[in-house]
Amino acid sequence: MKKTYKYLNSWQQFKIRKKYRQFMAYFISVMSVFLVIAFYFLYISGTYDVISKSVYKFFGMSEFSSNADSYPFSVHFIDVGNGDAILVHTENTDLMIDAGEYSLNGTSAEYLQHFGTDDIDLFIATHNDSDHIGDFSHIAEKFKIHGMWINKYAYDEKEDMTENEKIMYEIAQKYDISIESPEIGRYKVGDLYVDVLSPDKQYSNDNDNSIVVKISYKDISVLFTGDAGNAAENELLKNNADISADILKVSHHGSKTGTSSEFIEAVCPKYAVISVGKGNKYLPNNDTVKRINEAGASICRTDYDGCVILASDGNSIDVFKEKSGTR
Ligand SMILES: [Zn+2]
Repeated sequence: MKKTYKYLNSWQQFKIRKKYRQFMAYFISVMSVFLVIAFYFLYISGTYDVISKSVYKFFGMSEFSSNADSYPFSVHFIDVGNGDAILVHTENTDLMIDAGEYSLNGTSAEYLQHFGTDDIDLFIATHNDSDHIGDFSHIAEKFKIHGMWINKYAYDEKEDMTENEKIMYEIAQKYDISIESPEIGRYKVGDLYVDVLSPDKQYSNDNDNSIVVKISYKDISVLFTGDAGNAAENELLKNNADISADILKVSHHGSKTGTSSEFIEAVCPKYAVISVGKGNKYLPNNDTVKRINEAGASICRTDYDGCVILASDGNSIDVFKEKSGTR
């Protein structure tokens, strides 16, 4: 008959305990290696993000960006203070317009990471001001960028490039990102139509050289104007460019230099988004805000609302604001 453990002598008990400890050590090592490998594969396959997102959601701690998860199309105006950083997302495409001012932890890149962006099909640098390209380095470091657009007049003053511009070109070179300057016309980027509307000539004020694009997904269109001012706007009106859009990214942070009555009436947006920092004395300009209101658009402002998401099924638009819109 087999002896039970308590009837064994101490030497036999010691041997059993030793074997048990050896087995446990072996078991724990194998499991640890297995878990490390499993997490590695989950991480590189992107499943890790999905799982961690579900866990966060379960505990009621979901990221703000997850509001867009169930929509096939969303436009994310990331709150980067004074500057622009916008993600245009569909199930198959990620397009980024500007990156915001340089920030230590890379505000816009961090937002994309939380949202679960893996790579960027196209990065559009509207123009070379630091509040638009300053944080490009963080975006390029963390995401594979498949192509980049700069406006065709951005190269002109290469000899006296600012520190930000130098960094942008160096980073693009380092990460092997091909830079192009788009001509006026329609481009297909993933499942988005991107109509380049401006610049079609060089303006003396570099803000006016901003790339202006109208991006369409099914029945929804969004007009992005960078920091373009009245000169560029008037040219678009003169050329009868199709600028009508459901959503307008208000140019130059709502400054008085743009968004004339004629322009906003021609765009006739349901929503107008102003990307601007809190407590800015001059931006947005009160008269500009008044003109937008008079045109009947509903205004979202990153200084009041934090990040703003306009999400759509390709037909109607839902709005999500990070904050309750307090001053
Ligand atoms: Zn700007």
